[in-house]
Amino acid sequence: MSWDDFAKHAKDAADWGAAYHKTIRDRPVRAQTAPGEIAAQLADGPPEDGTDLGTLMQDFEDIVMPGITHWQHPRFFAYFSSNAAPASVLAEFLASIIAPQCMLWQTSPAATEMETRMMDWLRQGLGLSAVFQGVIQDSASSATLAAVLTMRERALAWSGNQEGLAGQAALRIYCSDQVHSSIDRAIWIAGIGQDNLVKIPTKGPMKAMDPDALQAAITADRAAGHRPAGIIAATGATGMGACDDMQAVAAIARAEDLYTHLDAAWAGTAMICPEFRTLWDGAEQFDSIVFNPHKWLGAQFDCAAHFLRDPDQLRQTLAIRPEYLKTHAQGDIIDYSEWSVPLGRRFRALKLWFLMRHYGMDGLRTRIRNHVKWSVALCERLRAVPGFEIVTDPILSLWTFKQVGASDDQTQMLVDAINDDGRIYLTQTLVDGVKVIRFTAGQFDCEERDFDTAFDTITEIAARA
Ligand SMILES: *Cc1c(COP(=O)(O)O)cnc(C)c1O
Repeated sequence: MSWDDFAKHAKDAADWGAAYHKTIRDRPVRAQTAPGEIAAQLADGPPEDGTDLGTLMQDFEDIVMPGITHWQHPRFFAYFSSNAAPASVLAEFLASIIAPQCMLWQTSPAATEMETRMMDWLRQGLGLSAVFQGVIQDSASSATLAAVLTMRERALAWSGNQEGLAGQAALRIYCSDQVHSSIDRAIWIAGIGQDNLVKIPTKGPMKAMDPDALQAAITADRAAGHRPAGIIAATGATGMGACDDMQAVAAIARAEDLYTHLDAAWAGTAMICPEFRTLWDGAEQFDSIVFNPHKWLGAQFDCAAHFLRDPDQLRQTLAIRPEYLKTHAQGDIIDYSEWSVPLGRRFRALKLWFLMRHYGMDGLRTRIRNHVKWSVALCERLRAVPGFEIVTDPILSLWTFKQVGASDDQTQMLVDAINDDGRIYLTQTLVDGVKVIRFTAGQFDCEERDFDTAFDTITEIAARA
């Protein structure tokens, strides 16, 4: 393809994108295809001869689009939102045209220096103190893995990478029973083993880790000859938004000399609004904090913001310098590949720069506040409808409900019927072993009327069942 042709097709794609978003409300939110339907339309093997872009674009419309679940749909109320604000999309497009490899400062100084600055903008936005320094990871899962590896190495006096874990006392890591599955996987990958991830029971409306049970578990582990290494807390866990008590966790960690990591993958974005910061009061004392601008903030996937009190501990865990990666730059430079598990790095800071400059922090805060306000209002409307019960009250924009007296099977049938209808998209979770329906709002451009449609859809379909 010539670059002149590229320019033409890129303009067509931009027009297509604008039309897509302007008519997105007409589409069912969740893909309505059956398994195998899309694969059946794809050739069995790669073509020998090339195809023109016009045909490819048409096939994209005909084959791919019917099998897409529209995450940018304003009535996407499932999982957690994964936003791509238009300014962020443009930045991603530019970054993918230049396609720099941003593993070292010298492999693109602008990317490294912008990353440092953007992470500091985010830090200020969240109201965290200047002791924190940040790095962009590809996902919250990667940030948690980096933190768990740091816990491991710190507890082993930095010998684990060299010597492995054989013959060591069992390393023990603590978290609540509400944490995301990425915590379990980080423990597996770090070689610590699921049996050494101690899940502490939760209590209270926020389903916070019980501090007494946490302290008791650590004390018992020391008595048994195990080696406690760290605590992972959550603000806004995935199921119903559980929030640990950061002050209580930090106090225990300090007394026990444990490394602390906070998973605020979803809820962290809301901390740009000062009134929500009580949810993570004490986060300031943690060693490591992750949140995903690629969820609620509006940055195109992927973009996980990872803040560290002492990046040297992470660097000591992950840095490795074979000759081909050595650089001879003068002065104070950062090679961010020493702060993350993958070596190669995309230019992710650019979309944060576009996003924060275009909307301004005030514009971003207004969106978050609206989402929370509209979601809470919908919760109250549904609470007033006979036959519905709110199972967990809103934590930010996340709450759960079910029909009074419904069995798990009946609840699942209602979720499926709602999603087959196509106007909205919801998912289910378990609360205390009972199946419930989750509602969470956060799509960048949703409006109040989308919540009215959600109310109509839920009540209509429930009445029909
Ligand atoms: C979404 C989510 C994750 C996983 O985020 P990735 O960036 O996809 O790895 C982890 N923890 C919580 C609480 C989440 O909501």
